[in-house]
Amino acid sequence: MKFSDYNISQEIKDQLEILGLNKPTDIQYKAIKHILDGEDVMAIAQTGTGKTAAFAIPTINILQKKSKSKYGKGSIRCLVMVPTRELAKQIATVYREIGKKTNVKVFGLFGGVEQEQQIATLNNGIDVLVTTPGRMFDLISQGAIDLSGLKFLILDEADLMLDLGFTKDIKDVMRFIPQKRQTLFFSATISKKIKKLAYDVVRNAIRIQISPKNPVAKTITHIIVDVEMDDKRFFLENIIKENEDQKMIVFARTKVRVERVVAAMERVSIHSEALHGGIEQKDRFAILERFAKGENKVLITTDVACRGIDIPNVEVVVNYDIPDNPENYVHRCGRTGRGKNRGQAISFCSEAEKELVTAIEEYTGDEIDRFDIAKGDYLEILSGSDDGTNNWKKLIDEDNKFNDLDLNW
Ligand code: AMP
Repeated sequence: MKFSDYNISQEIKDQLEILGLNKPTDIQYKAIKHILDGEDVMAIAQTGTGKTAAFAIPTINILQKKSKSKYGKGSIRCLVMVPTRELAKQIATVYREIGKKTNVKVFGLFGGVEQEQQIATLNNGIDVLVTTPGRMFDLISQGAIDLSGLKFLILDEADLMLDLGFTKDIKDVMRFIPQKRQTLFFSATISKKIKKLAYDVVRNAIRIQISPKNPVAKTITHIIVDVEMDDKRFFLENIIKENEDQKMIVFARTKVRVERVVAAMERVSIHSEALHGGIEQKDRFAILERFAKGENKVLITTDVACRGIDIPNVEVVVNYDIPDNPENYVHRCGRTGRGKNRGQAISFCSEAEKELVTAIEEYTGDEIDRFDIAKGDYLEILSGSDDGTNNWKKLIDEDNKFNDLDLNW
């Protein structure tokens, strides 16, 4: 079945064609019909599966046909709650693109920027509000947002909302919205807590689960390479230099480590940019934009700043550090191989991180392929580095290293 066969407006069909979206993905095929029928949906879908369009297409279609709100200024008909500012911006963009030929007005609202302009936009009338919880509650209390005429409540990346402590906000929003509404609940992973949260907000929901067994998308080849902690930067340098034209996201564990990796790459004449929660919001957007346009090809980041971000054509993900939380492994890998593209994820695993890999494999239910690197090749990567500051030490140590692998842990 193609989108052209769907019972959706011609304006949406035309726009989907322009965007190059012809056939629904699995989640779209399973969710759209139920949403169009007015049912609540609880969907477990990985990032990169097309889940944003799965809720944007049917909700825009319904909003387009319904008469505009009879409620007052700032009255919202569809509320999409998301955990991060970047996601708010990105999902608002998807809505705006899909609804471009319709009369449905979309606004991405988040903190960290001036309120006045946001209030003025809301006063002009908005149908779909995509927002993080904090700024939304601020503006509800100031009377700039009215949720009493709400038709759709959509919770996206609900598992991250829960991780970031937004459960109370989700419950609080129920006080401002009508009982009679349609609720769509999306989460990348499922746990007891997620189920409980879902059943607090949805009613008789249609349950959809996409690829429950191994949540790393099939379009992604992912491997683990054993690399000592101190050698990781040489391996990253090697991967970047061998894949010069490719777009790459590198995940490190903390902000400080992100900055250190950027500095280490600079020393070997590799341009990269850091993205993490310690960087100002407007700079974060500019960094993402440069990366999306390919002006910067290497983005080095932490987990929170990058969750759910849909950047086109990222060919390689490097887990410079193995994530502490197994779910984040899936999200990180999901930055590549999006839609129908293929991607590669390479994880550097030091001795101390081996337990984390075991936890990931238990979580995904699948063993991750190991890339066995011969001693000679390992040393060649170290000696091939352009970093003159530390390399001599490596070369002197080379024999010791392999005779006593516990040396540096
Ligand atoms: P999402 O899971 O919503 O972040 O979407 C992941 C990617 O899939 C985005 O780059 C979309 O443009 C792409 N995508 C969404 N729907 C389709 C479709 N029906 N056909 C091909 N690509 C799609």
